[in-house]
Amino acid sequence: MSVSRREFLERSAALTAAGFLPRVPSPDELGRPIAAGAVGASAIGVPFRGRPVVVSSANGIRGVKVAYDQITKGTDPLDAIIAGVNIQELDPDDQSVGLGGLPNEEGIVQLDASCMHGPTKRAGSVAGIEDIATPSLVAKAVMDYTDHVMLAGAGARKFALAMGFKAQNLLTEKSRQDWMRWKSRLNAGDFWLDHNDDIKIKFTTGTINMNAVTATGDIASVTTTSGMAYKIPGRIGDSPIIGAGQYCDNLVGAAGSTGRGEANIKACASFLAVEFMRQGLAPEAALIKTLERVAAMTEPRLLDANGRPKFDLEFYAVAKDGRYAGATLYSGGRFAVCDEKGPRLESAAFLFKR
Ligand code: ASP
Repeated sequence: MSVSRREFLERSAALTAAGFLPRVPSPDELGRPIAAGAVGASAIGVPFRGRPVVVSSANGIRGVKVAYDQITKGTDPLDAIIAGVNIQELDPDDQSVGLGGLPNEEGIVQLDASCMHGPTKRAGSVAGIEDIATPSLVAKAVMDYTDHVMLAGAGARKFALAMGFKAQNLLTEKSRQDWMRWKSRLNAGDFWLDHNDDIKIKFTTGTINMNAVTATGDIASVTTTSGMAYKIPGRIGDSPIIGAGQYCDNLVGAAGSTGRGEANIKACASFLAVEFMRQGLAPEAALIKTLERVAAMTEPRLLDANGRPKFDLEFYAVAKDGRYAGATLYSGGRFAVCDEKGPRLESAAFLFKR
């Protein structure tokens, strides 16, 4: 990582004190939100009492514990879940995110990330950023230090460098070899000799989404990814899109996603899941209804003979009162959760049986 969290925060505090950066208003200055009726109303002026929970995609099993421990000690929920997803971003063996993520078709790792901070109603995002291992922190820096929500490509990289993040080569030897294997088997008629090894070409659908609610009902969400393996350079997935890759409303809850981003973007599905919770649905029912919408929005070329999507998409959600869920298009999925019972993987609800 370019800057340690401590350095980042120290520098931010110094810049803010010096008047160079906008001061971030505290939740109290903005007025603490009151729980919506659908998710457990509380009388005006009475502090909300809920239960802290962190939920994420299954690869966040280590991160949910880190984030949960932090929120129960009073850390801001967004800082806590970003610390949680940083574990995957910096893990060279997770080939779906950050350092070691599988590259685009030209062998360049391009990362997407976005986040939302419920208490202050802010969001930040970076798309197609290169050379920076922790795009979740860059997305948060966009949120904290600019009047924009989204930065993309070369501009996002420049911004990150200006903020003190360090550039590094994100293509690990393992991911380079996977990319070369994919390339050599692309087309028998090209000038790359096909390998005859038995190694399966690796495609990742990965990504990490993490959402948290604190005991006082403050909510945050973050999603970070290297996107679809071997994508066309410049392809942007759902992860950096606010309302698709993740969405958070401090009155209601948060939701986020992994899987085929193109299907998610068309349904604005994380936003939709939060809206279903706002209407009164429990997280699991909200996610299933969201998946129904995704299936209904699927173009014919992506439907199988039974009219079902040929891809998978997974959603994770928390409600303000601490209820949570994970749900996938197809059975067999799992998701990570941490609450007072500790970190664990649970079976996801599903729309279709495999
Ligand atoms: N949702 C990510 C994307 O489409 C990929 C994934 O989760 O597998 O970029």
